[in-house]
Amino acid sequence: MKKGLAILGSTGSIGTQALQVISAWPDLFCLELISGHSNAELLLSQIEQFRPKYAVITEERAYKKVSKSLSGSTTNILFGEENLLQLLEIQEIDTVLIAIVGFAGLKPLIHSIQYHKKILLANKESLVIAGEYIMPLAKKNNCNIIPIDSEHSAIFQCLIGEEKNTLKKVILTASGGPFLNYDIDKFKLIKPEKALNHPIWKMGKKVSVDSASLMNKGLEVIEARWLFGLRPNQINVIIHPQSVIHSLVQFTDGSLKAQLSEADMRLPIQYALHYPNRAKKSLSQFSLIDNTELTFQQVDRKKFRNLALAFNAMEKGGNLPAILSAANEVAVQEFLNGRWPFYRIPELVEEMMNHQLFISEPDLQTYYETTKKCFADSEAYIRKHT
Ligand code: NAD
Ligand code: MG
Repeated sequence: MKKGLAILGSTGSIGTQALQVISAWPDLFCLELISGHSNAELLLSQIEQFRPKYAVITEERAYKKVSKSLSGSTTNILFGEENLLQLLEIQEIDTVLIAIVGFAGLKPLIHSIQYHKKILLANKESLVIAGEYIMPLAKKNNCNIIPIDSEHSAIFQCLIGEEKNTLKKVILTASGGPFLNYDIDKFKLIKPEKALNHPIWKMGKKVSVDSASLMNKGLEVIEARWLFGLRPNQINVIIHPQSVIHSLVQFTDGSLKAQLSEADMRLPIQYALHYPNRAKKSLSQFSLIDNTELTFQQVDRKKFRNLALAFNAMEKGGNLPAILSAANEVAVQEFLNGRWPFYRIPELVEEMMNHQLFISEPDLQTYYETTKKCFADSEAYIRKHT
């Protein structure tokens, strides 16, 4: 029987690839709901092509445009986050794929968990902000969270069949991004076009900049902590420029397990959509003979200071990861807008980590309040220091 699927953030890089994957397996899912923010043209074409029962648009201008153009459509078109949350409650939706970027993914994730949905999670910021709250909530609601982030999908796959107490450490691989071999002095010259030009992956803008600054790996370290119930000292990062090994797990007997495949996000999406089964065909194949050079190196945490800050936030815990994530979200946006230089992203993050109110045992409300305050204070800091 087909399962009811919601794809939140269907117009993004992950969202569009998820739609490609479900097109290749038309018997697997019935598309109940898609959501998007501002890309009205793409939403229009997705609604026409995939005919979901519902489409929710969270930006008003795009909503008006789409609803006007599709007044006779069989798809119900709704506006805003409140409607999105309400729709996630309906029984027809069994599985929710969350590919919204940033803080905006947090509420839909929590709501989906509260309504016992199976979650396929691409949005990493939500676990960074509030993983300590989210994971016990998921457990209480008997709710599976299947990661889509390629590193976490790799670790998830490596852990199948293993006992938890035999896990020694996880090793997240990082391509190193476009500036791996840049001298730190050249960081001052980095423009958005360069930061968006990732050598391996084609991704949304925020995650591309995060990959270039290695904040992406920092966010992933914290994401891994919560997803797999790890202690901070069990998480390691290694540079692997070819992005063939997506991550590794080391066990108490010294054995290392790795997951390898093409650098193609449709594969972890395909894995999550089929879980607990494996797809019987694939959208992309991998050959070792075509990938004979696999190299590894240590990360330079002085050059990529964001990674050091993320480890620091994870170790101190409380609301500090939420502060890190919020400051970074503003810094990246303002870098893309041309108002904040790339090399000062860690400065803003560190400033917020040092000066926002630290709360060691936050509740859910605190995570929301911390994030909103840090958004405002980060914007003010940028206004004052440029
Ligand atoms: P993207 O920018 O391409 O797409 C983001 C989606 O979120 C779009 O559909 C957009 O409409 C929606 N959105 C943006 N702001 C919103 C708001 N305020 N309210 C509701 N919806 C909003 O991003 P992406 O690259 O697809 O990444 C999505 C998430 O997946 C991120 O958290 C990213 O870190 C994670 N991720 C992405 C990749 C990748 O290869 N792109 C890989 C691993 C993890
Ligand atoms: Mg990743």
